[in-house]
Amino acid sequence: MNNHWIERARPSLQTLQPYQPGKPTEDLARELGLSSIVKLASNENPLGCSSAVTALLANPSIDLARYPDANGYALKEVLSSMHGVSMEQAVLGNGSNEILELIARAYAGPGDEIIFSEYAFAVYPIATQVVGASPVIVPAKDWGYDLEAILAAITEQTKVIYIANPNNPTGTYLSAKPLRAFLEKVRKDILVVVDEAYHEYVEAEDYQSMAPLLGSHDNLIVTRTFSKAYGLASLRLGYSLSHPQIADILNRIRAPFNVNSIALAAGVVALEDQDFVRASVQLNNEGLKHLCLGCTELGLDFIPSVGNFICVDFAKDAGPIYQALLHEGVITRPVANYKMPNHLRVTVGTEQENLTFMNALTKVMNQ
Ligand SMILES: *Cc1c(COP(=O)(O)O)cnc(C)c1O
Repeated sequence: MNNHWIERARPSLQTLQPYQPGKPTEDLARELGLSSIVKLASNENPLGCSSAVTALLANPSIDLARYPDANGYALKEVLSSMHGVSMEQAVLGNGSNEILELIARAYAGPGDEIIFSEYAFAVYPIATQVVGASPVIVPAKDWGYDLEAILAAITEQTKVIYIANPNNPTGTYLSAKPLRAFLEKVRKDILVVVDEAYHEYVEAEDYQSMAPLLGSHDNLIVTRTFSKAYGLASLRLGYSLSHPQIADILNRIRAPFNVNSIALAAGVVALEDQDFVRASVQLNNEGLKHLCLGCTELGLDFIPSVGNFICVDFAKDAGPIYQALLHEGVITRPVANYKMPNHLRVTVGTEQENLTFMNALTKVMNQ
């Protein structure tokens, strides 16, 4: 077969590997004819979303024939008072994923370097490669970020540094003090993106959002998402907070109506229901303890996590275990694409889902 249309694509796209999503429940149901499936593959909220959002969707006053508010005024208003920033500092995205890519598109290109850590979120290398910039991958330390090594990797060509805090897929986090010290040391013309997708879940006392530092750091961008603790992954909604000029540039290059009206309205309602978020976090943190305990009992190591997922170490190729779990109706996430072939990432589910997983895992380990 000739590869004509592959070869005519921009050079950086010809070797691009697409993002590998978790296996959809529907796919497994179709393939194995299973009716009862537990999906613990994509760090979604097992409680669903706020009942205020489901009520809104059941009775929407949204006019589907009209374009959405391209500026997302109502949602930005809530975000601005929640974070104590101006509305001009917020950018809304079709998931925070879109914003992570907009940043690379706006500020880097061929000849530029973008730094991120080994085992960091898969969207960073994709965003880098799409714009033709060079990825600079800094070796991890104990599965987490080595901030000193990241500082040492900075060159004249560095344009952007991506930091996920906590990180996915490892679940590790950076405490506030070293991260703040890092921000002080990074050259002021380099953008530091602190991706706080799992912010809501973290209970460690030495963890802090970097959002309060926006006023004193022009080169800082903080991103958040509605896909995890808010349980709205399907609506695709995320946002960034930054210097207003960075927000201005990102808003120029995004699609004019990148966030739909339903997501905009749901976002407002979801932010108002912090009780739901608290319940989600509590369920998660109890479930996380149970999963850790269960793994320990099975003699399995894992990477200590502060997120809504945990990476379990099977000390051998985890592929066959992933497959065997599928046959038990449990979908986990292989992370071989992160060069972690011995691990599976498991999202914390409901109490029952966690139990189903542990039972399936016990069976599979004894096979
Ligand atoms: C899930 C996740 C996101 C959020 O993605 P959305 O596009 O907002 O759904 C961002 N960063 C990390 C590290 C994630 O794991």
